Amino acid sequence: MKLRDARLCADCEEVYEAEGCLYAACPSCGSKSFYLVSRWIPTLNDFERFAVELKTTGQAACERCLRMKKKREEIHGKPA
Ligand SMILES: [Zn+2]
Repeated sequence: MKLRDARLCADCEEVYEAEGCLYAACPSCGSKSFYLVSRWIPTLNDFERFAVELKTTGQAACERCLRMKKKREEIHGKPA
């Protein structure tokens, strides 16, 4: 399962893959209420997009990018 496809069921906490259907129901309880897991865990594409933005503009374009940058520095330290 790819992170970008992972969904967390809002009713039973099952993590499942949407399998290409926007309206896929939870396979465990049938609920159609879900959260995208990538909302909390940035994908590699998010980090790559952020790196390009920083390189071209010299600053982050959005609040989410700033949070990702801070988290990345917590994990890997500040860039030299
Ligand atoms: Zn469920």
